[in-house]
Amino acid sequence: GVLGSGDFARSLAVRLVCSGFKVVVGSRNPKRKASLFPAAAEVTFQAEAVKKADVIFVAIFREHYSTLCDLADVLAGKILVDVSNNTEINHHKESNAEYLASLFPACTVVKGFNVISAWTLQSGARDGNKQVLICSNNQEAKRTVSEIAQVMGFTPVDMGCMSSACEIENIPLRLLPAWKIPIFLALGLFLCFFTYNLIRQVIHPYIREQKNKLYKIPIEVVNTTLPCVSYVMLSLVYLPGVLAACSQLYYGTKYRRFPDWLDQWLQHRKQIGLLSFFCAALHAVYSLCLPMRRSHRYLLIETAVKQAVEKKMTIWVEEEVWRMEIYISVGIIALGLLSLLAITSLPSIANSLNWREFSFIQ
Ligand code: NAP
Repeated sequence: GVLGSGDFARSLAVRLVCSGFKVVVGSRNPKRKASLFPAAAEVTFQAEAVKKADVIFVAIFREHYSTLCDLADVLAGKILVDVSNNTEINHHKESNAEYLASLFPACTVVKGFNVISAWTLQSGARDGNKQVLICSNNQEAKRTVSEIAQVMGFTPVDMGCMSSACEIENIPLRLLPAWKIPIFLALGLFLCFFTYNLIRQVIHPYIREQKNKLYKIPIEVVNTTLPCVSYVMLSLVYLPGVLAACSQLYYGTKYRRFPDWLDQWLQHRKQIGLLSFFCAALHAVYSLCLPMRRSHRYLLIETAVKQAVEKKMTIWVEEEVWRMEIYISVGIIALGLLSLLAITSLPSIANSLNWREFSFIQ
């Protein structure tokens, strides 16, 4: 059974019907909403639908739960699946699922499916997140809902008892929690190196020779800053491992907890590494674009004119040519190796490697 006829209820009904379940939908306006559902799903009034189903997905917002109180008698003894999300982290004192359980003490409430979007439900589990986090105080009800999730093609993850509901409800609202520190780190490093390169390439020539080199800021200064950030970030990926090993040697045990800062650092290595790769990739693109700039063309023509005036026929410097060929070639190989590291750190690829293969690539 599904209560509600909104986006989530519709996608849920489609997925359930496709997975072979008999579905009954409870709406306040069944006549108006019936055409939105697959023909195999029965759309009726809320009370009728609730009578016909043992497991009921409550696909309505928390604010409207109290409007279901008239159905308390018919709902007694049934399993209610709370799929709701909030608009803010820790918005209410108690989780939505606990609130639903307090309104219907004669029902068994299971929290689940809220981390799945209506879109993922409709497009099937192949295209999107496959995990469905489930929690409840009743093992039997949790098992029933887990089995439904499995038949629908999802992977149920047992998150324990109802006190986990708050955590599960906060998951869809989090904004890249693991990326905050690495991003601030990258921005901080970028700012430091950018300031240094700005002084070296723009401010210094201006003070010493009154030369206006402001045009270098958008591309040249940024382009010299990016690889510096990339290298420092890459070294920050491997440094905590070395520090952790030193700490284990120093204390003569691997069973001692690392200090919190080192623990946090170790946990953010993947994100730091991916940002290092991002900076390196940007550096490659910026470098490829260097000859496209008008300033580059002007300088090239200026040099050619100077050569002509001085009647110099050749400007070929063998050492410079070799230096640049090797320099660029090593840069390309370095970027290639860094791409390999970045690709193998992605979960889908990393999961297909055994530990030996993973550490070999690292
Ligand atoms: P929605 O499109 O606004 O639908 C909400 C439905 O609630 C309405 O269609 C309405 O159906 C029903 N309802 C029952 N009593 C109501 C009342 N008193 N006032 C207003 N509506 C009432 O919302 P939704 O996107 O489907 O979301 C439904 C629930 O799923 C929410 O708790 C949401 O947090 C959760 N969820 C949604 C998604 C998503 O991708 N959309 C993902 C995860 C979780 P009737 O008019 O037929 O009664």
